[in-house]
Amino acid sequence: MQSLSANHLLLDFLARLSTASASVLMLDYDGTLAPFHVDRNRAFPYSEVMPVLERIVQLGKTRVIVVTGRPVAEAKMLLSPLNLEVWGSHGLERILPDGTYQQKSIDKETMAVLSQAKEWVLAAGLTSHAEIKPGGIAIHWRGMSSAEMKDIEAHALEGWNPLAERSGIKLLKFEAGLELRVAHPDKGDAVASILQDSAPGAQIAYLGDDFTDEDAFRVLSGCGLTVLVRSEYRETRANVWLKPPHELIDFLKQWFHKINSMQS
Ligand SMILES: [Mg+2]
Repeated sequence: MQSLSANHLLLDFLARLSTASASVLMLDYDGTLAPFHVDRNRAFPYSEVMPVLERIVQLGKTRVIVVTGRPVAEAKMLLSPLNLEVWGSHGLERILPDGTYQQKSIDKETMAVLSQAKEWVLAAGLTSHAEIKPGGIAIHWRGMSSAEMKDIEAHALEGWNPLAERSGIKLLKFEAGLELRVAHPDKGDAVASILQDSAPGAQIAYLGDDFTDEDAFRVLSGCGLTVLVRSEYRETRANVWLKPPHELIDFLKQWFHKINSMQS
């Protein structure tokens, strides 16, 4: 539950934004900026999110960054026409608003394990549920019955658990699926890099909903505001809990008003 102290943390943070020399707003995509959709290519942001994010970006006072498990190209397509900095595939790749693209390299041994995981998916007849992405492979089960979900999860775990034990690899459970991927970078590594680039005294926040966002919350803990965006509360390292979309939109609007009221 949102406690009184969490509410104070949020208000104190917003108050500091009006006088901060710099600010960084990091946002997860699925479940945070956008509701889940059976067709993940149609999981567009909440309608009121885009205009307020656009106003924040246009002011040029906050570095707005989307940090997502999705590949960069997918996130860019869903966020279009808004041109944001995106760290995709859990930070393995990133694209800046000017189009500069970077992808971290993956060592040969790890690539070989990922190839084995792909071969297993093909042999198991799960290709239609699989998503191949930089540094990982995901199996999705959104929209299936709970019996089907349990079956597919048990099957995938049986095939992938032995691979997940290999060094440099990890198995992630997300909102509606499993992903076998490189252990690093994770969203925490992405946040650590962004922190290194940020000016001293910058006011920094990270908003996310999923278990993978907990790595980001951990890294930002003590030096920024961490926000769980979720309809129902769950155990989290985040300082504050906001329910989407209304509390999220209200937070973004307040962010805009605080930086807009700054003397420049
Ligand atoms: Mg998410």
